[in-house]
Amino acid sequence: MTRIELVRAPNPGPLTGPGTNSYLIESEGEAIVLDPGPVIDEHLAAIRVALTGLTPVGVAVTHTHPDHAPSANGLGVELDVPVFGFADGPGFMPTDRLEDGSPIGFGVTELVAVHTPGHTADHLCFRLGEYLFTGDHIVGGSTVIVEDAAAYMSSLEKVAGLDPAHLYPGHGPDLPDARRVIDEYIAHRVEREQQVLGAVRNGAGTVDDIVDVVYAGLDPALRMAAVFQVHTQLTKLKNEGWVVLDAGGAQGTTSVRLVERA
Ligand SMILES: [Zn+2]
Repeated sequence: MTRIELVRAPNPGPLTGPGTNSYLIESEGEAIVLDPGPVIDEHLAAIRVALTGLTPVGVAVTHTHPDHAPSANGLGVELDVPVFGFADGPGFMPTDRLEDGSPIGFGVTELVAVHTPGHTADHLCFRLGEYLFTGDHIVGGSTVIVEDAAAYMSSLEKVAGLDPAHLYPGHGPDLPDARRVIDEYIAHRVEREQQVLGAVRNGAGTVDDIVDVVYAGLDPALRMAAVFQVHTQLTKLKNEGWVVLDAGGAQGTTSVRLVERA
């Protein structure tokens, strides 16, 4: 019998939703802590409480962003267990490196790493039978920020191919209707790309112009994230031969024009 316990970190914000979801995953009295989050004393205390009576066997992280990984190494030392991750990052260094398909055995089951680059190059999801822990690849109640739009789309298709039944994301509520959520994420990426290309066709000449059209009415706190997203989407379109980009001083002032097609 596998048991999953959510311990939510008290770090809510525009980019973290209600806070980072740390998970305690248990099988037969052995437990793995996934994404222990930032170093926040009360959160680490809550994780210790959740571990009461269990034997911790590892700490794992989905990726090295500051809301997911920084407490992992300290917790690994404190619990005297290995720390699993794909690569080094700010404030994080795995003791055991995972590749796509690497298993972490515990109890009578195993957590299997699924490399899902896109949100970050080092991002892992973790499969546990029909469950998938999705980190920031797919989150509850929102879309995510993507560093590499082409890789991200491939990783969404990869996760769709696993056909999980239930998703446990890095932020927001868990998602029992996995298939529908993954399909919506794929449709959203396709739609965003068409919106960005459409804005260029309609005369938007810079990243800032496109953000004004595609993200009309956006919370100013999310403006920088939107600029980054449009720039990422344009980089994919550039690599596919749809547009030409001329870098400005900042991402927002990067100019864009359509490639003339015969
Ligand atoms: Zn992240």
